[in-house]
Amino acid sequence: LEAKGEFSHKTLAMDVMQPRRGYPPLSVLTQSGVTVGDAQALIANTSYSGFPVVISPESQRLVGFVLRRDLIISIENAQKRQEGVGSTSQIFFTECTPPPSPDESAPLKLRGIMDLSPFTVTDLTAMDIVVDIFRKLGLRQCLVTHNGRLLGIITKKDILKHMAQMANQDPDTILFN
Ligand code: ADP
Repeated sequence: LEAKGEFSHKTLAMDVMQPRRGYPPLSVLTQSGVTVGDAQALIANTSYSGFPVVISPESQRLVGFVLRRDLIISIENAQKRQEGVGSTSQIFFTECTPPPSPDESAPLKLRGIMDLSPFTVTDLTAMDIVVDIFRKLGLRQCLVTHNGRLLGIITKKDILKHMAQMANQDPDTILFN
């Protein structure tokens, strides 16, 4: 984000994050229990640049963040090079993986491709602070939590759109870089 002037509106992270209230939840991965087939379906059915990884759907506790391209490459590589990897193989983002039983497909350990400390803010963080953090840290995205539960995501483009809206401009006339 270019440091073009101050962002002085009183909006909060929850006003900018996706998904908005009433929309389908974030597309996430869980640290275990996801198969290669599940991940491939997620990749095929969405176009997001990345996916938060949570402990479980119930807890929504954030574990990390995985880039779409890293997920695609890792699955392709594993299918080419690792014996016994198929669509029923379990993906693990955990430190330890249970010993695979002989009748199961080989597990895929993908903790290495996960960003273990993705930047997060709470839903009540003021957007001027979020804009500042994006500029200073050069972030592409930031996750939004509420009481430790993952709630949403804000990308650089979301911020640019929001700034355009705040400036009462048509977001489509803004040139994104
Ligand atoms: P960009 O905002 O640069 O297009 P993405 O393609 O990753 O980046 O995101 C497109 C939109 O979807 C953004 O509004 C973003 O907030 C939202 N988004 C990003 N990742 C996810 C996700 N995993 N689940 C749901 N929505 C997401």
